[in-house]
Amino acid sequence: MNLKNSKFYKRIQTLRHFSKEKILKERTIRTMALRGVEMALSESQCNHDVDASAAAASAWSPPLSSTSRRKSPAGGAAKSKMIKKKTDTSPRTREKGFKPVQPASDEDNDGAEVNGYIELNKCRYRVACSGRVDATTSRAAEPLFVESKSTICVSNSRYAMIGRISRLLGYKLVKESKLWNILWSDSFPGVELFKNMKRFQQINHFPGMIEICRKDLLSRNLNRMLKLYPHDYKIFPKTWMLPADYGDAMHYALNHKHTFILKPDSGAQGRGIWLTNDLKTIGANERLICQTYVYRPLLIDGYKFDLRVYTLITSVDPLRIYVYNEGLARFATNKYVEPTPGNANDLYMHLTNYSVNKRNSQYDLCDNDDCGSKRKLSAINNWMTRHNYDVAEFWSNVDDVIIKTVLSAWPVLKHNYHACFPGHDTIQACFEILGFDILVDWKLKPYILEVNHSPSFHTNEQVDREVKRPLIRDTLTLVSTVLADKKQILREDRKRVKQRLLKSKGDSVLRPRQVAGGVKPPTNETNVAPAPKPEAGSLAQQVAWEESHLGNFRRIMPPQDASRISYYSKFYAQSNQVSIFQETAASKKREDLARKMRLQIEEKRAKAEQMLLASTKRKRPIQPRSVREKHRQYMYRLKENWIPGFVSEAEERLRHTWQQMRSEAIKNLKITENIYALLYELGHLSNTDITVFPSLYHCLQIGYDIKGAT
Ligand code: ADP
Repeated sequence: MNLKNSKFYKRIQTLRHFSKEKILKERTIRTMALRGVEMALSESQCNHDVDASAAAASAWSPPLSSTSRRKSPAGGAAKSKMIKKKTDTSPRTREKGFKPVQPASDEDNDGAEVNGYIELNKCRYRVACSGRVDATTSRAAEPLFVESKSTICVSNSRYAMIGRISRLLGYKLVKESKLWNILWSDSFPGVELFKNMKRFQQINHFPGMIEICRKDLLSRNLNRMLKLYPHDYKIFPKTWMLPADYGDAMHYALNHKHTFILKPDSGAQGRGIWLTNDLKTIGANERLICQTYVYRPLLIDGYKFDLRVYTLITSVDPLRIYVYNEGLARFATNKYVEPTPGNANDLYMHLTNYSVNKRNSQYDLCDNDDCGSKRKLSAINNWMTRHNYDVAEFWSNVDDVIIKTVLSAWPVLKHNYHACFPGHDTIQACFEILGFDILVDWKLKPYILEVNHSPSFHTNEQVDREVKRPLIRDTLTLVSTVLADKKQILREDRKRVKQRLLKSKGDSVLRPRQVAGGVKPPTNETNVAPAPKPEAGSLAQQVAWEESHLGNFRRIMPPQDASRISYYSKFYAQSNQVSIFQETAASKKREDLARKMRLQIEEKRAKAEQMLLASTKRKRPIQPRSVREKHRQYMYRLKENWIPGFVSEAEERLRHTWQQMRSEAIKNLKITENIYALLYELGHLSNTDITVFPSLYHCLQIGYDIKGAT
């Protein structure tokens, strides 16, 4: 029989063909993904190799400044084409006369390699990434569906769009209990989750980002930075945290005729906000954020608006921040007039929140760029260009505000990250999209109002869809999930655990038993499994990946401009913060309040403990009834004046009759004999016992057969 003609053989051939195809397809996808990450990592010990600005920056972040980019003759044409396409799609670069912030010049655009320096573990590395992948072009040419082995869990997010886009990008949606690559959650997860994350996993929040995402914490951080750097941190309206800063706020109100805006300390969506020019109406113990009202905002068509700028942080140490070129401008729905006691209550005039203004019948749902109560940032840029504003300068000021806001929480972010992810050495454990609410005044000065850690991804209007969908897509493309090999990491981790177990087992066998109170046996340091060290290569890979997958993001930290690098480096050193506040009246009041609160908490705790003690006292274990009875009788007899109670003759007779009846019943039912028989049978009685126990002897005398009774 010819085997090659058999059905079975043919079937095997087709299956082999399929699997070959599959393997090839996967390989091409992987090489495509990693094409942009061709790393040339060469350790450069000599510092004269590095220019001064790069050297200054390398101490805190890997600068990939435009000045240090190299030209590549091979990739030049493709690269310039790519940049051109990119700038075309960018909303900010579409209009004439607008000079994009990034890339800075045409010369830069020609460079097909990204160069920079990274300092890690006191060694300096040169990083070069050749052949950048053009995310924009490749996206347009390729089908949207790309097969990938990465998984994402979106079950903690209410936005269906995130799941849909992830699926289109080739992510597999999985439950939280599975080994996901990315966890997308709307809320801050608990520390436990952070601590249990594997080295290939990423989450869309940084531990400690709350420091800038809650109004009160943001104000505290920005006020602290303002004290330290009074000239640099005028990026937010004057803010007081009531009741601690009540005195300061009152003092300011006395000397300045100003309108104030009052907000609940952790509120959102415009809830509980009101305007006043009389701070005396506020109770001395109310917990509020009090801010000077920016009474001359930039108006478009007579309406006030604020900007929602989407910012992506991919790493906190070193700090890497990207800003999305597209975003939203949210408009108030009543024409703006400077605040007066008559219009201070008109929220549709003074607040720009969508959640407030959508309730107004004047809300404009127009889809065109230049109308509507929600517009794209590109439309605002067009408007600014038409009105001869310097758009590039404006956006560089916005970038500055964003960087400074994040830097105000940087020590906490860095500390928390290292505390939660000590072993995350392959890729960054977190990334985060923040929604910065920025108000612009008539001089085009941006003010930070609020930072949202979970900006809304609802797509109620066309403009939302046009902005938020590409934002999510570009974010999921930019994050470096693909750089972590899940299987390999799991294998390594298993090996590490095994090694550790074997070592500890070997130790316990070899180690001499420790005598109680004795001297500890000396431990062999070399026996301990080495802790994973962060690899310079992995960080460099991430940097290169991000640089080659920017999409519509622009990098603002590390800044493109070399002169800004040294400017921002001073904000990293936020030391001696406490001493600055020790003397101010507000800080003393804050301390007083904190002390009072501490006392209150301690009092409450003491009360709770007392109550607990009382309840445990009440629950004393109850003694057996016989013991209690004995004790009662004993106490009773102890009484000196105890006289026995009177017993009547009839009572005595009755008692006697009952006794007789009882002994007869026992006799008739042969209860005693039965008990004896049972005891005898169980082996508790011996023949000698019969002589010891008289009633037993009596039983035998009257001829009762003990054995037979059973
Ligand atoms: P919420 O988190 O409740 O939205 P925000 O601080 O963002 O609170 O303020 C809501 C709106 O109030 C903003 O969108 C803005 O229009 C307006 N607003 C807030 N603070 C000021 C201010 N200092 N000056 C002028 N308008 C302000």
